[in-house]
Amino acid sequence: MDVRQRFETAELKAFRAEVRDFVRTALPDDIRRKVAQERMDLPREDQQRWHKILRTKGWACPGWPREHGGPGFGDDQRYVLEREIALGDAPRSMIYGEGMLGPTVMAYGTADQKRQILPGILEGDVLWCQGFSEPNAGSDLASLQCKAERRSDAAGEHYILNGTKMWTSEGHIADWMFGLFRTDNSGRKQEGITFLTLDLKSPGVTIRPILLFEGTHEVNQVFFDNVRVPVANRLGEEHKGWGIAKYLLSLERFGTAEVSRSMASLARLKRFLRERDPFRHAPAQKDAVWRRVAQLEIELDALEITEVRFLFGGGEAGPESSMLKVRGTEIQGDIFELAMTCAGGHALAARRDETATDDQAARTGQDTAYPYFNFRKTPIYAGSNEIQRNIVAKAVLGL
Ligand SMILES: Cc1cc2nc3c(=O)[nH]c(=O)nc-3n(C[C@H](O)[C@H](O)[C@H](O)COP(=O)(O)OP(=O)(O)OC[C@H]3O[C@@H](n4cnc5c(N)ncnc54)[C@H](O)[C@@H]3O)c2cc1C
Repeated sequence: MDVRQRFETAELKAFRAEVRDFVRTALPDDIRRKVAQERMDLPREDQQRWHKILRTKGWACPGWPREHGGPGFGDDQRYVLEREIALGDAPRSMIYGEGMLGPTVMAYGTADQKRQILPGILEGDVLWCQGFSEPNAGSDLASLQCKAERRSDAAGEHYILNGTKMWTSEGHIADWMFGLFRTDNSGRKQEGITFLTLDLKSPGVTIRPILLFEGTHEVNQVFFDNVRVPVANRLGEEHKGWGIAKYLLSLERFGTAEVSRSMASLARLKRFLRERDPFRHAPAQKDAVWRRVAQLEIELDALEITEVRFLFGGGEAGPESSMLKVRGTEIQGDIFELAMTCAGGHALAARRDETATDDQAARTGQDTAYPYFNFRKTPIYAGSNEIQRNIVAKAVLGL
């Protein structure tokens, strides 16, 4: 039986129709156009605007329990919601607060921290970024050296931060950062790491842009020069941040494979091929391109089935999430590569035209160069594909 049959109940079909209809009518057109251009550098205002629309509907933070203001959806409903949001060209969720920090605070935070942190994420008022990686600590994250020294004075107990964080996505549009800091260097490198949250407006914080190679500003380097952080901002115990970080990194089971977004990208490519018919004078090439489209559709289908089996199969998360990440990013890259090939010279439009309608973009194939170059990052971030393959090799081959 096709595992996707589980979404064919009358209840879920009605829910799917409701979400589809809602996205079509509630999503502002200017935001939809940017998402349809495969932009990952969505401005803060756009992300907040869409989040607040979802919040008004009661669908913000769909993975959160009712107790903390979420809709209390089951996994089936979350899956359907995520699919329809992606197919409708609506923005991704604000992952750092909603998907990472929020659930971690629910698990490890004090009552005060839950009261202080969760409402800002739920309402979409406070944007968070993740300060884990450093210039010499990425794949080998536990080597991090950005220092937090404990001090005490008349104003209270606090940490003084010195050092730098690298590749901080959305650091330039975020209000707060959660991060890992070195509080002790004497033991194993996984020990002596502490999980802190800090206001990015604190004196001594400097945020410098790093432009991706197609020119977008998504990531930053953040510098700390004697930045003062109250001890009350610590999540969990001092020196015990590694366990919390591992919990946080294991959270995001949904969307690892980006199946829904890839479906939307492939649908756009097919529309371009049908409407523009760029190979109308080259039948052999046209056949080859459509065969490649069919092949990608089959690969995406297989990925979707694997994802559903993983998400709904019960049991512990194993190497499946690594396989989903590797295959998902490979297929994503393949779709954009094919789109570049099909758009030919049009893909090389020097500037993304923000005023272009979807129809214009689809007809001319413009913008295909941007995602092609921009998505080179996906095999690197969230644990590089080489690291994911190591995990699979260990689990499956016992290496
Ligand atoms: C666009 C983008 C956004 C990011 N956003 C964030 C963010 O918001 N917050 C954050 O904290 N970090 C972020 N990162 C950092 C990201 O997590 C790291 O880049 C990633 O973990 C790889 O680390 P590194 O860059 O230090 O490369 P390295 O770890 O130095 O790796 C270099 C190369 O060697 C390979 N390699 C390393 N170790 C092994 C091994 N054991 N076996 C086989 N191959 C290996 C890697 O796969 C890679 O190809 C982002 C990165 C990018 C590119």
